[in-house]
Amino acid sequence: MVERRPDYYTSFHCLGGACPDTCCRDWSVVPDEDALADYAAAPSPLRERISQDLATDEDGDVCFRLDEQGLCALLTPDGLCAIQRDWGEAHLCGHCAAYPRFTEEFGCLTETALAVSCPEAARLLLEAPQFALAETDDGRNDPPFDGVDPDLLAALEQSRARILTLLNDGEGTIWEKLRTMLSRAKALETFLIPSDCRREYPFPPPPFPDLFRASAIWLFNLLAELDPLRPDWPELLKARAAQLSALSPADYLRLRADYERANPRWERQLTNLACYLVFRHWHKAVNDDDIYGRAALVCAACTVLYHLSLFQPGEEAALWTRFSREIEHDENNLADLIWALSEPDALPDPL
Ligand code: SF4
Repeated sequence: MVERRPDYYTSFHCLGGACPDTCCRDWSVVPDEDALADYAAAPSPLRERISQDLATDEDGDVCFRLDEQGLCALLTPDGLCAIQRDWGEAHLCGHCAAYPRFTEEFGCLTETALAVSCPEAARLLLEAPQFALAETDDGRNDPPFDGVDPDLLAALEQSRARILTLLNDGEGTIWEKLRTMLSRAKALETFLIPSDCRREYPFPPPPFPDLFRASAIWLFNLLAELDPLRPDWPELLKARAAQLSALSPADYLRLRADYERANPRWERQLTNLACYLVFRHWHKAVNDDDIYGRAALVCAACTVLYHLSLFQPGEEAALWTRFSREIEHDENNLADLIWALSEPDALPDPL
């Protein structure tokens, strides 16, 4: 079996109390059965505290209670988890212990990513000289899980490797390479799934600045309609859409030129983000055949985060974190976005 992960994976260390945007906020964590059984044997007074801080969510699952600021009730004033601080890391539930590591298993292949919803994982990705993968192979020829089409998985493996090479080392700008990725995804999907080749997300390149800006504004408004984790996210998107609309064509070009001049690594940063998204999402097409929709997701994410960064230079990692929490970690928002990018009827006329 092959195991794969980004090469900066082992550099990750949780920032704990120094984290600028803790993962112990907003998410209602459902501990696994083993963790719940473990908590019943916690030393006093931690045991009583855990018991008080467990609640039942709308699905009837036992979860950690969030306080009025959306923080996990077990978070201490020093920004640490009471279970970890007072009892030890070994007693964290599976979700909290694993985050921000996300593992996908295919039987013959296991891949682990560091989600950029964590600010420290986003920083590592932002500062990486290049997005590279580390791989081990135990030599066992394990078959794919039942339900995983081996031919489709092999095609995804091959196509993704080529796309990562294209993004990292290919000729042209990031936008040209993203367009190439999109057309390859369409060709691959058309080849593999001939009956489902109608989709077309026109990804306007920067040489047509009016269309590129219109695309960003449309995406801002689209994302603002999704179910928000935090209410200030759609407010931010709507405000940025209005600011972008109000710019004259010359001011729009100036804003981009100033940003790119002040941040010479902007294209490498965006390339790293695109590679991360391709790595994390491409193979999920093995479940639903939607290769094109995932390529469009990568293009849309890069367009949105580039344009948000124009207004908040130097805050790229924080913006990636926001996007990831709002979109990548919300199955419904992710599915709705991919659908909207894949349905010609959902796209506005100018695009
Ligand atoms: S978001 Fe990341 S760095 Fe911050 S507390 Fe969570 S795991 Fe640690």
